[in-house]
Amino acid sequence: METKIVVLAEHDGKVSREISLELLGLARRINEGGEVKALLLGNGIESVAEELASRGAAEVIYVEGEAVENYNVDAYRKSIEPILNDETPDLVLIGHTPNGWDVAAPLAARLGVPLVTGCAQVTMSEGRALLTRKAFNGKFVHQVEVTGARPLMATVDKGASAPFEGKSSGTVRKIESPLSIEELRASYIETRTGESGGLDLREADVIVSAGRGVGGPDKLGVVRELAEALGGQLGASRAVTDAGWLPHEHQIGSSGVSVSPKLYVACGISGAIQHVVGMKGSGYIVAINKDPDAPIFGVAHVGVVGDLFEIAPALTKALREAKGK
Ligand code: FAD
Repeated sequence: METKIVVLAEHDGKVSREISLELLGLARRINEGGEVKALLLGNGIESVAEELASRGAAEVIYVEGEAVENYNVDAYRKSIEPILNDETPDLVLIGHTPNGWDVAAPLAARLGVPLVTGCAQVTMSEGRALLTRKAFNGKFVHQVEVTGARPLMATVDKGASAPFEGKSSGTVRKIESPLSIEELRASYIETRTGESGGLDLREADVIVSAGRGVGGPDKLGVVRELAEALGGQLGASRAVTDAGWLPHEHQIGSSGVSVSPKLYVACGISGAIQHVVGMKGSGYIVAINKDPDAPIFGVAHVGVVGDLFEIAPALTKALREAKGK
C-alpha cells in the first residue's frame, strides 16, 4: 500500500540542515517507490528547494515571504496547516529539533491528529504505523502503534536515520505566503549567538569531549588541541560546564545537547548515563580513561586505559605528523 509522506525541512537560509536529509532518507526507506514531498518555509530559498529536490524529494513545496523568513511558530503553523489539508499525507515527518517540536504540537492540535515525539524509528506497513521512542534517558524504549486520524505526525531524533544517498530529480513549487508580519502574534526580534560564538555540536562530524578528569580549565588545552588536529569541535561533560570550565553550549547529555558525530572522543569522562544518552548515537566512540572499570568503556568502540595527558598529546602529535604539520 502506497504511503504519502511529507517531510518538514529545515535550513539555515542557504542550505538544508542535515536533519532534513535524514528525514528524506527515512521517508524514502519507509516508502519505497511511494510519494515523498518536502515542505520548506523561508525567504529567498529557491536554491534550498532545488537542493532538496535533488536529494530525495519528489516534490518540494516552498512557502516564501517575509512572515516566514525567520522561524515563527504562528507563521509556520498557519502556513503549513492548509498545505497538509490539501496534500492529505498519511505521515508527516518533522525533526525533533527546537523549531520542530515547537511547531509540531500546535499543528497536530489544530489538525486534530496524533503526534509522536522524539522517535528513534518509524515504520509503516499496510497502513500500520509503528514508532519507537526513548524514555528515561534511553533506559527504556516505547513502541507505539498509532491508529486513527491521519496524517500521523512524528518528530524524529537527529542521527536516527541515514540521509538519502542517491540523486533525485524532483520538482519545486513555490507558494507566496499570504501572511503579513503584522497579523502574527509573535514577532522575530533578533538572533544572538551564545558565548561559544554559535557553536552547534549537533552539526559536528567530530567531537572531542573533556570530562572532570581533565582537572581544571587551565588544562583543557590538550583536549582542545586534539579536537583541532581532528578538525572537530570541543564538547564537555556536565561536570566541566557546571564548574564553569567551558560554557553550557559545550555540554553533551540529557541536560545538554544530544549529538551523533561520525567520531566521538571522550577524555576523562566516566560515562554516567546522563552523558551517555547524549552521545551513544555517535558513529565511532573512542574513550580515554585511567579507570579500566569506567562505564564509558561499555559504549566505546575503542577504549584506551591510560592518562589522558599522555594519550591525547601523543594522538595530536601523530595526527599533525600524518598531515605533515
Ligand atoms: P566524573 O564522573 O567525575 O569522571 C571523571 C573521569 O575521569 C573518571 O572516570 C576518572 O577515572 C577519569 N580520569 C581522571 N583523571 C584522568 C586522567 N588523567 N586521564 C584519564 N582519565 C582520567 N552529565 C553530563 O555529562 N551531561 C548531562 O547533560 C548531564 N545531565 C544531568 C542531568 C541530571 C538530572 C543529573 C542528575 C545529572 C546529569 N549529569 C550530566 C551529570 C552526570 O550524572 C555525571 O555527574 C557527569 O556526567 C560526570 O562528569 P564526568 O564524567 O566528567 O566526571
